[in-house]
Amino acid sequence: MNILVCVKQVPDTTEIKIDPVKNVLIREGVPSVLNPFDGYALEAAARLKDKNPGSKITAISMGPEQAMAALRECLAVAADKAYLISGRSFGGSDTLATSYILSEAIKKIEAQDGPFDAIFCGKQAVDGDTAQVGPEIAEHLGYPQVAYALEAEAAGDSLKLRKETEGGYEIVEVKTPCLVTFTKPSWPVRYPTIQRKLDADKAEIPIISDSDLPLIDTAKIGLNGSPTRVKKTFVPNRVKNGVKIQDGTGAELAVKLTGLLKQSGVI
Ligand code: FAD
Repeated sequence: MNILVCVKQVPDTTEIKIDPVKNVLIREGVPSVLNPFDGYALEAAARLKDKNPGSKITAISMGPEQAMAALRECLAVAADKAYLISGRSFGGSDTLATSYILSEAIKKIEAQDGPFDAIFCGKQAVDGDTAQVGPEIAEHLGYPQVAYALEAEAAGDSLKLRKETEGGYEIVEVKTPCLVTFTKPSWPVRYPTIQRKLDADKAEIPIISDSDLPLIDTAKIGLNGSPTRVKKTFVPNRVKNGVKIQDGTGAELAVKLTGLLKQSGVI
């Protein structure tokens, strides 16, 4: 199988800071890591490769040069090849423009390396959090898509997927080529071996830039090609207006709590 994994480099923090003037994430001074959900997508691809020897895993990321680090991590863990999608005109792209650029880059890679049977994405990026890019890539390419998968298995010209649902999980089959987004499985992801890490550090990662995609519709990329208009971004102030209920038996405290909840319209 020929599998593509789309990965994003995200800030390694739970406290996202936003530039109040430009309305964009402040990335300076914040270390970056591989988006955890993309690590789960890579693990699913690696498990598929374990069971189907001869399979190939390619990782791609759209971002600045520093996103090479996320790609090297993928190479160290399981990927055989990686490409960075990076160009001046790509900056300022929203999710629709990002997914369009990624889909055009995928077509370019397929023309060189052969078609992909499956495109794996994380369910969402932990910074942007929209969960839109994967499904949008599928739409741009006209592929069927399955979201919230945990594990994939090859089944002829289809993939058999175990996917999470609210009440448990279900097994679905989807014809290849397809796009699948992955969520957190209950098993751990693998770590790189020292040899793979050394090889990954030395690996050449080709860059696909604007000039490599001459047929791209420039009206659909960058800030001007992005339909999203961010009016304001802010971190809401945490209001601490809790009430401490103490002094009394369990039953008395329960009555007090019920009264307060009724008073404030919660019940
Ligand atoms: P999600 O949709 O939550 O990601 C889902 C999955 O898609 C990921 O798990 C991963 O598998 C895949 N994926 C997502 N992003 C990438 C990627 N870049 N490469 C490969 N795979 C990916 N961001 C900037 O970095 N620079 C900018 O200048 C910029 N300008 C913006 C301007 C506007 C108006 C808006 C709205 C956003 C801008 N962004 C910019 C943010 C950028 O649009 C998002 O980071 C990007 O589209 C991914 O969206 P998300 O984080 O919600 O990913």
